[in-house]
Amino acid sequence: MSTKNFDLLMWVSSILCLICVSYGYNPIDNYLIDCGSRTNESVGDRIFVGDNSDSSILSTPQKILANTTLEITSSPYNSTLFQTARILDGPSSYTFPTKKHGRHWIRLYFFPFNYQNYNLSTAKFSVSAQNITLLKEFQIESGPPQVKEYSLNITQSNLTLTFTPSSNSFAFINALEVFSLPDELIPESAPAIGTQNNYSVSNKALETVERVDMGNKSVYPQDDTLWRLWVSDDTYVIHNYLAKFVSNTTAVNFTKGGVTDIIAPSSVYGTATQLDSEHDPNTKANVTWRFDVDPGFEYLVRFHFCDIGSMSSPSISFNVYINSMLVVRNFDLSSRSGLGVPYYMDVITKLSDSLKLNVSVGPSDIGNSYPNAILNGLEIMKISNPKGSLVFESDLKKSSKMKVGLIVGLASGMFTAVTLAIILFVLCRRRRLRYAHVGHSKAVENFAPNEMENNSPNRAAIFSSSKFGYRFPFVAIQEATDNFSESLVIGVGGFGKVYKGMLRDETKVAVKRGVSHSQQGFAEFQTEIEMLSQFRHRHLVSLIGYCDEQNEMIIIYEYMENGTLKNHLYGSDLPSLTWQQRLEICIGSARGLHYLHTGSAKAIIHRDVKSANILLDENFMAKVADFGLSKTGPEIDKTHVTTAVKGSFGYLDPEYLTRQQLTEKSDVYSFGVVMLEVLCGRPVIDPSLPREKVNLVEWATKSLKREQLEEVVDPHLAGQIKPDSLMKFGEIAEKCLAECGVDRPSMGDVFWNLECALQLQGSEKGSSCAGDPSSQVSHVNHLEISVSTAQFSVGDIAGISMSKVFAQMVKEDTR
Ligand code: ATP
Repeated sequence: MSTKNFDLLMWVSSILCLICVSYGYNPIDNYLIDCGSRTNESVGDRIFVGDNSDSSILSTPQKILANTTLEITSSPYNSTLFQTARILDGPSSYTFPTKKHGRHWIRLYFFPFNYQNYNLSTAKFSVSAQNITLLKEFQIESGPPQVKEYSLNITQSNLTLTFTPSSNSFAFINALEVFSLPDELIPESAPAIGTQNNYSVSNKALETVERVDMGNKSVYPQDDTLWRLWVSDDTYVIHNYLAKFVSNTTAVNFTKGGVTDIIAPSSVYGTATQLDSEHDPNTKANVTWRFDVDPGFEYLVRFHFCDIGSMSSPSISFNVYINSMLVVRNFDLSSRSGLGVPYYMDVITKLSDSLKLNVSVGPSDIGNSYPNAILNGLEIMKISNPKGSLVFESDLKKSSKMKVGLIVGLASGMFTAVTLAIILFVLCRRRRLRYAHVGHSKAVENFAPNEMENNSPNRAAIFSSSKFGYRFPFVAIQEATDNFSESLVIGVGGFGKVYKGMLRDETKVAVKRGVSHSQQGFAEFQTEIEMLSQFRHRHLVSLIGYCDEQNEMIIIYEYMENGTLKNHLYGSDLPSLTWQQRLEICIGSARGLHYLHTGSAKAIIHRDVKSANILLDENFMAKVADFGLSKTGPEIDKTHVTTAVKGSFGYLDPEYLTRQQLTEKSDVYSFGVVMLEVLCGRPVIDPSLPREKVNLVEWATKSLKREQLEEVVDPHLAGQIKPDSLMKFGEIAEKCLAECGVDRPSMGDVFWNLECALQLQGSEKGSSCAGDPSSQVSHVNHLEISVSTAQFSVGDIAGISMSKVFAQMVKEDTR
């Protein structure tokens, strides 16, 4: 093809693009090249022109056109563009005449494959444009395709892109985009965090490091006005149990004179990740995303916000942070833009030595009824340094040092090779994972119940719920547990094995992998996720995620360093817990259960309260676990739910057992049994003991009735328990174990009285609970409820319903 023909083709393709995108953006300068291709390639509404010619725009010593038949399935970009490449076996340059001065985007497409004697993954080269170093000694290993994006302010009549191969190497490129940008897209300057100053970026080159769509959804180039790829945020969110993914694209309303879809399309503004505070109104937690960055550079960070009506509270106010530095305090989105109206904010941050950039949004200092925080999209752009480079130099030093090492000696060479292999392995794995995540979120998006294997009505239900935020890809769990290594098994329960694992953000987790493919196993799996994703409380074990890929039933929980309460009471060599620790554990778990019973409109009944389901964290703080059998409690006007009896032998409420009528009081009974285990340090049923002692409840309640409780106390506690504290504890346990549910206290009453038992243990006088109410009042002072004249004894438990007071206390407690 002659130069004239090529230029004609570029002109025709520009006209075609103009027609096609007459409703979108039409760049004045628009060069789209399918490098090494003999034909043109249509990509959505654009045409990439083949550069099979000695065109006026490319100067290169040799014409080498490479191609492959490799199918690329993992790329969000058009895969055909990666199947050809221009090999540049010597310094080469593309020169693009520019009609418009101002910002232009340069997108470079790379995918290494083997062509004749050329293995593109061994190519090493540098790329520069207008004296800005974009890439130096760049090498791309085999793996998914990469697209690099730069924006440069062009003031000359040409934009020249130079490829310089390293010595004894060559360069390559699969496709190229160079086009002028709308003036409003990139600012001239932006405020720098922590200063009062605006920092100018007008003469700087920018490299897009991350472009992320919040709300666990990717937006692909064909759906973006400027053909940008927005990757889903799910792989960047850390502690994703704090995040809730929401979507309401129809709410987005680009108003005249405001933000346009040039800044970001409605598909980005219409989805968001917000702080999930509904079940924890006192939360102070932030939602955080973590990104890899090069240290020593300044970054332009763009936050995209839009209130898409997804939050319960009408006023939206939150704090925004970058690496713990406050970007905006009490950012009031409602006053900056109306409902559905997009808003964005640019800031500049310098990272001196950090390899990570954390972006967080979290509750403001203004007390909202429900703390809220939202983010719809995020862009991170690296700013060229004063040397006119976008390349992290110490990387280069490292690689040249390695090169020297290879030459110096065999031994060090071997070492370097092994190190490189590990780095390559980790990088490939990471990249594979990232793409797996993109694929995963796409799969979630496109979910239709009939695509599931082994469908059952219940099976479909879990996916039609809005718990996508908790859904983990199987590969991520394999990675976290070293492919379910036997050495990481920390326990085995009725559901299956439990593994200790570590997520990529270094969060320790417990991974429970179900073995049963029965409907029953699945029902419990589903209930556990439903329950735990609704409730968050510091005395309930937190759900981190789940996985249902390939018929798996995997639940990921926060890791509880000290395992089960049961293990610390008997049957192990672990050091014995002190009385104070035991009381605190009982109080914690009672608070957790109380929250379950009262924290939402309808009570949740746990149904499997036992010492094996109370877990202890590194500080021995108790959290209630295992919600697989939980059930919603009775309607307000009903007293009970009729259900088939389930639970664990030895802990079952006799009333529930005989009448199958379930109320919160069944949990209270089981908790009474746990209290006896705590006091006596022995199993609920121990067939090895003399007959009268086999059943813990029968044996201990006899002693209780005789007021001879000392007889049953765990010998490890000998001499530790103060009589008043023991008496109080015994009284509460006895009340919990009452034959009839109506005679049992509520969990709120239980934890209140356990607090008294703790005070009686700690108090010098030994009477603060019964006689000195001030210490009780201190717990509820902030509620402005006067209990100063209260004289608490067990008799009060049944008589006074303190539930409302305690419900409020529990809310306070979650801080
Ligand atoms: P079942 O499920 O039959 O009632 P279980 O409650 O003992 O029995 P699992 O809940 O599956 O069984 O737990 C098995 C073991 O795994 C526990 O005993 C505990 O040691 C460990 N484990 C479970 N969850 C966690 C966690 N979040 N952190 C640390 N260890 C855990």
